[in-house]
Amino acid sequence: MLRIKGRVLVGPDEVRDELWAVDGRITHERPPGADGATTLTGWALPGLVDAHCHVGLGHQGPVDVATSEKQALTDREAGTLLIRDAGSPSDTRWTDEREDLPKIIRAGRHIARTRRYIRGYAHEIEPGDLVAYVAREARRGDGWVKLVGDWIDRDAGDLAACWPRGEVEAAIAEAHRLGARVTAHCFAEAALRDLVEAGIDCIEHATGLTEDTIPLFAERGVAIVPTLVNIATFPGLADAGEARYPRWSSHMRRLHERRYDTVRAAYDAGIPVFAGTDAGGTLAHGLVADEVAELVKAGIPPLDALSATAWGARRWLGRPVLEEGAPADLVLYDEDPRADVRVLGSPRRVVLNGRVTG
Ligand SMILES: [Zn+2]
Repeated sequence: MLRIKGRVLVGPDEVRDELWAVDGRITHERPPGADGATTLTGWALPGLVDAHCHVGLGHQGPVDVATSEKQALTDREAGTLLIRDAGSPSDTRWTDEREDLPKIIRAGRHIARTRRYIRGYAHEIEPGDLVAYVAREARRGDGWVKLVGDWIDRDAGDLAACWPRGEVEAAIAEAHRLGARVTAHCFAEAALRDLVEAGIDCIEHATGLTEDTIPLFAERGVAIVPTLVNIATFPGLADAGEARYPRWSSHMRRLHERRYDTVRAAYDAGIPVFAGTDAGGTLAHGLVADEVAELVKAGIPPLDALSATAWGARRWLGRPVLEEGAPADLVLYDEDPRADVRVLGSPRRVVLNGRVTG
């Protein structure tokens, strides 16, 4: 049994002085036998969410169980206790049996157009097979399906949309019929309108949002996960691709240059924005604090940037916060993270399923 004492941030404006973890669950009432409880003190947040993370994925595709476990443990030590896995070629279902690993909401394996994504990551298919693959991944996942919505078209030498409108519309309808939400990787502008009008639920990266598409996202409540720590790698990618694909390179640089303005404009328009790091393929795990700091740098007020990894993100994913009976997943800090989100970079204690892990 644990007693959490100090300032427990049950909601953005709701602070309690203490709560308890009994048999892995939160209770707000002092339980019998409370005198023997271990007391932890500090500022407590619900376990952080990384809304775009890949467990079981490495540079070249799937990785083994030991590497996947290490990835999940790195996220845990950073305070990430709930992951929305935005596509993995590995079957990580085994982590569900592990009370010491972050909870994972899976989107199955990425679905990409043939030769239009990083090799070894995705099902690479043509549009005629999209509905069938979306149905398959909807059944394999935990309520999400992940599409690659745009990627470099080598013939055009630039980013281009991957899917025709009709097929994507049918595929999203099929996912919804099966109870799954759909998200898509999109760097550029071109794919966004079709995907949103086809009923998509979320866009990853979303660097191509403009004043044309921002109102559409806002009106339909389509969320974005900007993954700014990943967007920071665009200039390096652009340099590497400059000789072969100059048009693509300059496009990537433009998207990068306006990234903060894009995120801020989306936020100002009322588009739900969530924190995701894109850990996995090339990025390190455990960067959630950096991503929240980037959201603040983009101009999102600290409390809302915090909500993008805490209360708001959990609500969006249909998971509990720190209410009575919820799994005791929380992180303790020395200072108030609402005053300065950089506090997230130094968790004092991580509690997962009522157990202190670090
Ligand atoms: Zn990703």
